[in-house]
Amino acid sequence: NKKPVVAITGEDAYHLARVLRAEPGERITATDGQGRLYEVALTLVTPDAVHGEILSVTADHSEPEVKITLCQSILKGEKMDWVLQKGTEMGITAFVPFLSARTVARPAPSQCGKKQERWQKIVTAAAKQSGRGMIPAVHPLTPWKELTPMLADCFALVAWEEETALSLRQALSGRPRPQAVTLIIGPEGGFAAEEIETLKDRGALSVSLGSRILRAETAGPLAAALLLYHYEAL
Ligand code: SAM
Repeated sequence: NKKPVVAITGEDAYHLARVLRAEPGERITATDGQGRLYEVALTLVTPDAVHGEILSVTADHSEPEVKITLCQSILKGEKMDWVLQKGTEMGITAFVPFLSARTVARPAPSQCGKKQERWQKIVTAAAKQSGRGMIPAVHPLTPWKELTPMLADCFALVAWEEETALSLRQALSGRPRPQAVTLIIGPEGGFAAEEIETLKDRGALSVSLGSRILRAETAGPLAAALLLYHYEAL
């Protein structure tokens, strides 16, 4: 009786054949990006296609139970790359780059598609390097007006540097662990007060990440790590 087979194509096939120089007969571990790991015995290795027999399927424990979406007001240059790479290593599930009043980086509309592609490449590489069971999605660059409706029936937290009443810890304590959390982080120039009001009107909680002002590229990965630590997923 024939064993189920798996076919790998594209960049992964090329990487296996040309970079790792894998050979038929060798074993690899493959993920379907849906939380399952496959032990595979390779039967064919070419730069265009790699085939293998599935020897076993196991649950993938590399993904946190809490799905975090990081909405980040886009940052200039490398800083955005840093948020995407470190956020992926932390275990963030999806990224929504958005534009807000004080966003400094303002790519021309014709550039947005290229930027999203480049950002997705950074996230895909970081997901592979960190052994993630899935590749986080980078959503298209989202204008402010489209961001706020996305927050309906989400547990959304906006990190506001001027928040003095509610800390992240207070916002999380005494509340059961949610399936998903949406984190919203501002740009280098921060949030305008009316933006915070709009987010609160949509049900987001404004939280402090402490008494020091963090750079935007620090705040997102840090907040994700604190969330995962709090929910014992780190
Ligand atoms: N208004 C800030 C200032 O005076 O420098 C600029 C914003 S800060 C560099 C960038 C973003 O990081 C903020 O919009 C917020 O989302 C987050 N952030 C930084 N420090 C924070 C803190 N202590 N508490 C909550 N959020 C913080």
